[in-house]
Amino acid sequence: MHRIPGVHERLEKFMAGLVRRNPGEPEFHQAVREVAQCVVPFVMAHPEYEEARILERLTEPDRIITFRVTWQDDRGGVRAARAWRVQFSNVIGPYKGGLRFHPTVTQSVLKFLGFEQILKNSLTGLPMGGAKGGSNFSPRGRSANEVMRFCQAMMRELHRHIGEDTDVPAGDIGVGSREIGFLFGQYMRLANRFTGVLTGKGLAFGGSLVRTEATGYGAVYFLQNMLATRGEEIAGKTAVVSGSGNVALYAIEKLNELGATVVTASDSNGFIHDPHGIDTERLAWLKELKEVRRGRVHEYAQHFGCKYHEKQRPWRIPCQLALPCATQNELDADDAEALIDNGLLAVSEGANMPSTLGAVRAFLAREVLFGPAKAANAGGVAVSGLEQSQNALRISWSREEVDRQLRTIMHDIHEKCRQDGTDADGSVNYVRGANIAGFRKVADAMIAYGIV
Ligand code: NDP
Repeated sequence: MHRIPGVHERLEKFMAGLVRRNPGEPEFHQAVREVAQCVVPFVMAHPEYEEARILERLTEPDRIITFRVTWQDDRGGVRAARAWRVQFSNVIGPYKGGLRFHPTVTQSVLKFLGFEQILKNSLTGLPMGGAKGGSNFSPRGRSANEVMRFCQAMMRELHRHIGEDTDVPAGDIGVGSREIGFLFGQYMRLANRFTGVLTGKGLAFGGSLVRTEATGYGAVYFLQNMLATRGEEIAGKTAVVSGSGNVALYAIEKLNELGATVVTASDSNGFIHDPHGIDTERLAWLKELKEVRRGRVHEYAQHFGCKYHEKQRPWRIPCQLALPCATQNELDADDAEALIDNGLLAVSEGANMPSTLGAVRAFLAREVLFGPAKAANAGGVAVSGLEQSQNALRISWSREEVDRQLRTIMHDIHEKCRQDGTDADGSVNYVRGANIAGFRKVADAMIAYGIV
């Protein structure tokens, strides 16, 4: 496909326009470039997509809502934060995507996440559009009461823009089950409706079994599918995981269950290296540290007597499996080369856009099995979709039933990537496969709607 004449010129012209229209948004430019590199040749081979200007339309959000959140801290001080909801595309279903609370949140970060979410949600096969939201509010060091007041203040504005058939937010960095509880409670007070307007809810009020575990488990199921194409399995392999939040903890849990030895975990201050492996007992301790005591990973190193590497990332530790599960751009080209030189076999991205464009290039050039985020971490939003279905039907499925559906969805996403990403030599470029399979469904719906 890359032999189509003029592809490079078309790509660069498109990107130049996008950068001009969206100044100062490097994360958004990066996410679009990764997709456009795959999709431009595909669009050029399909004049109906080109004539309908699908790529140009799809990279312009339907709307962005920006608002001030005023709240009060425990000492009575008045605080103001900025919040956004980027409603990117509802072409194949109501807007769907998480909320992130972190000081690094900007409009650019939320646009990259919302754009990725369109194609990811399309890949799941469920009827979900793409969105993302959040705030530059930092929950770190805040009391539970402060977090509650912030969530309530945010929902005072957000409730006007969401609804079970309009836009259904979920969690992301800094927004876990506690925050979803506060947000949902306030939505109910304001709207006087008990409805599936958020996902990731507690089991007592409409949540789904396996939603908490879904992103991490799903990333490992996707890894299993990739390894099987080379006759390999997870058992007996050494895995390096970054992060120690929702995605990382449940990726570690599933890797353990399938017989891998996970030797690292991290947070934004550094990483721990535990050659013994973060086994079931140590993982239970780490979960308690992160989810209940809200502590830092260096405490794990003190407790279990292993090494803590301050201000470093774990990619120099030899492994066959790497799962970046913390944040965007946490793994660069040098890290990728180091991993490959140390015997890397496969990468499954639990976080969104954790690998830089240079790192992705290195993985593809050196034939590492590389599962990009929009395919590998789609399990979270997929089970959110299943939570919406259960809410609409007013029933709850068993753990086994939800896990079965999650495995099936991850298997199907892998198949879609193979169908659109297999090269002439039989190897699979999962980046191209995921981008094209995700794009095609959305593009076909847009064509069917005419010029809207
Ligand atoms: P959590 O808030 O539960 O955990 C985030 C983890 O990443 C923490 O260990 C955090 O450390 C670390 N981290 C956050 N920001 C940075 C940073 N700038 N540099 C280094 N480390 C950082 O979030 P999740 O586990 O939910 O999300 C992790 C990733 O997975 C994100 O990219 C998210 O978009 C993605 N994702 C999440 C889904 C979900 O269902 N939750 C679904 C699909 C993707 P610290 O405590 O120091 O901040």
